[in-house]
Amino acid sequence: MTRGVATLDLERPQLRPGDALVDPFGRAISYLRVSVTDRCDFRCVYCMAEDMTFLPKADLLSLEELDRLCGVFIEKGVRKLRLTGGEPLVRRGIMTLFQSLSRHLASGALDELTLTTNGSQLPKYAAELARHGVKRTNVSLDTLDPDRFRAITRWGDLDQVLAVIKAAQAAGLAVKINAVALKGVNEDELAGLVEWTHGQGMDLTIIEVMPLGDVGEGRLDQYLPLSMVRARLAERFTLEDIDYRTGGPARYVRVAETGGRLGFITPLTHNFCESCNRVRVTCTGTLFMCLGQEDAADLRAALRASESNDLLHAAIEEAIGRKPKGHDFVIDRRHKRPALARHMSVTGG
Ligand code: SAM
Repeated sequence: MTRGVATLDLERPQLRPGDALVDPFGRAISYLRVSVTDRCDFRCVYCMAEDMTFLPKADLLSLEELDRLCGVFIEKGVRKLRLTGGEPLVRRGIMTLFQSLSRHLASGALDELTLTTNGSQLPKYAAELARHGVKRTNVSLDTLDPDRFRAITRWGDLDQVLAVIKAAQAAGLAVKINAVALKGVNEDELAGLVEWTHGQGMDLTIIEVMPLGDVGEGRLDQYLPLSMVRARLAERFTLEDIDYRTGGPARYVRVAETGGRLGFITPLTHNFCESCNRVRVTCTGTLFMCLGQEDAADLRAALRASESNDLLHAAIEEAIGRKPKGHDFVIDRRHKRPALARHMSVTGG
């Protein structure tokens, strides 16, 4: 795409059709997360309000449209694709999307096709996911206490999720556990989660709660800085920094006592935006260039306006040209409202 003189900025790399996506700060975009539905069968207290209003189904891109959209991002240099939500496995027919996307793994255009799930639907799908080339999945699990699990997810059943994890491993999927650190809720069991996950041959990533969407309770009440979590874990374990990367934002240590890997995702205490390689597309085809900013681009119009992908290429390039330098999440006493109105379930975690 040729930019008009008015928008020409000599410090910005200029994109040409077919170029890999590089943003104004020189970051190559190689990782796409797609929220395939905003619906979920859990209502985690830090993610959603109890009485969420979901999008009318008619607003959603079809699975074929999502497939086409992902294909264009892959043509433009995306090497890693994560389907998320909402809960990706509650989207009807979702296996046909995995199946179709697996052609990009077979052709070598894509390095990884993966998902983030709460695990509730995994028994139905684990073997099929493995057949479609999915090698790893993230499962979200914040506690090993059944009552706490019910309180956090509002609707979830811990035993079911634990059984699911075993089934997924048996189907050949590597499982990584994601746990959000929640003040006064699971902070006393994070060390136990380290031991349990590593004992089961899984990595664990601990995530700082982000101020996304109104969830009906104060973020300050939930927020536990991971600097504090890490310091506490370091009293119990020997944490050795390692270079391991999965293409996402986590920074990993090896826990000497367990031999397992432990990741920290710290959007608040240490923002990692300088190495951001990610963008997100919602189930309505809205492209968010940053999880922590409002600016977005409508790709649905470009997708539906023409059977050719030219408009889509142009819309994506134009949007990447305004990817911001970083987010500015803040959780403190002065900021009582969420940093952003939209919930994590819209953009996809
Ligand atoms: N339903 C799937 C699941 O439970 O993993 C995928 C979607 S969920 C939005 C993706 C991830 O985002 C989960 O690991 C969840 O714990 C995390 N998450 C949701 N809201 C968050 C928030 N406000 N701050 C930090 N992480 C959040």
